[in-house]
Amino acid sequence: MTAKQAQPGELDPIETASRDEISALQLERLKWSVRHTYDNVEPYRKKCIEKGVHPDDLKSLADLAKFPFMTKSDLRDNYPFGLFAVPRNRIARLHASSGTTGKPVVVGYTQRDLSNWADVVARSIRAAGVRPGDMVHVAYGYGMFTGGLGAHYGVERLGCTVVPMSGGQTEKQVQQIMDFKPDAIMVTPSYSLVIAEEFERLGIKPDEISLKVGIFGAEPWGQGMRAEIERKLGIDAIDIYGLTEVMGPGVACECIETKDGPVIWEDHFYPEIIDPETGEVLPDGEEGELVFTSLTKEAFPVIRYRTRDLTRLLPPTSRAFRRMDKIVGRSDDMLIVRGVNVFPTQIEEQILREPRLTGNYQIVLTRDGHLDNVEVRCELQRELSGTLGRGAIEEIARGVAGHIKTIIGISTKVNVMDFDSIPRTQTGKARRVIDQRPKQL
Ligand code: ADP
Repeated sequence: MTAKQAQPGELDPIETASRDEISALQLERLKWSVRHTYDNVEPYRKKCIEKGVHPDDLKSLADLAKFPFMTKSDLRDNYPFGLFAVPRNRIARLHASSGTTGKPVVVGYTQRDLSNWADVVARSIRAAGVRPGDMVHVAYGYGMFTGGLGAHYGVERLGCTVVPMSGGQTEKQVQQIMDFKPDAIMVTPSYSLVIAEEFERLGIKPDEISLKVGIFGAEPWGQGMRAEIERKLGIDAIDIYGLTEVMGPGVACECIETKDGPVIWEDHFYPEIIDPETGEVLPDGEEGELVFTSLTKEAFPVIRYRTRDLTRLLPPTSRAFRRMDKIVGRSDDMLIVRGVNVFPTQIEEQILREPRLTGNYQIVLTRDGHLDNVEVRCELQRELSGTLGRGAIEEIARGVAGHIKTIIGISTKVNVMDFDSIPRTQTGKARRVIDQRPKQL
């Protein structure tokens, strides 16, 4: 392979179109999507009527700001099928969110939705440098979670060989990678480290592993984690973004030539950034909550869906579409520690400045009287585990605590543990935070 820049002829024409062409297509599709939702999704129509807006009011892209938001609670309130815009017998597949943050939500796809999804995932994988004929190992979980099947059909659509491995069975994952020699892997960043550790345990060096590219998503991961994964697997690590409610993986994906944040496939998903407090639309470049409107979805259209993911919109670089910055975290992952807002990824960045530590970490929150205590558990790299004296370990702990204090502004107790002391995910998303503080009433 292969890990290479796409040539103009390989791209969909819209990926290199002018902003005017993109906006014209978006407006046409937006009008269809808003009307389709209004006509077929009663709870959303009610919201529009309450707000006094009608699909006819949508004359420009900016008019979208007049329309009501959809939120996760709308999905839960209408569980399971209440927001579907087509009759049940036109639904070709159901998926559900993994329920990281509460009761699962169920989404549906028509045949055409599935085909569009495969197209955007194929486009994502191609942006990551994969080419037809390459072999792609999919280690996202298969099942109701959108990761496995979402990736799978995109890999097939691009004309690659798919290895539908799913998550778990780490030893077998490694064995198959050694035997089949795939060019690329799709997996959560945290599980990729578990796989990397298994290679290490077997004494297999990065240059003995066939993989050239990894496409990672489904959870936040910072630049430090990118460097750690690239080093341990000897690959380029590419960021893919998506969420069940909007489609699944492949809403946005980074390009290998720039690795500067996921490109949003704006011909299918219209992004806005809003102030999470006021709901007001913010200009590009400002950080806020990411909101998506689907432009082509038939079964489960979303209009102004509040993702709770915090990021910024960035100008186009390697494609004509805008990009999003790396997700800092979701608003519901934000920890408030002694009044300071902290995202786990910010702590992750500080841990990974220390090369003697792995990317596996956990944050344990407890409360002493009125005071929050934060313990940051991190781990020594395998080859150092059991070899360092107490002085060196204390020095590492002081260093990390010092960075966290200076950059984030909170005091923490950093606990440097031996390799493999922190539980690892076997199937997907890592559990980074253990909050043992009593619930506030
Ligand atoms: P759940 O909501 O149950 O976790 P999903 O799999 O739909 O189920 O999760 C989607 C969420 O995962 C996104 O809203 C976002 O918070 C996170 N996510 C997905 N991809 C990325 C990514 N590349 N970077 C950061 N976060 C991501």
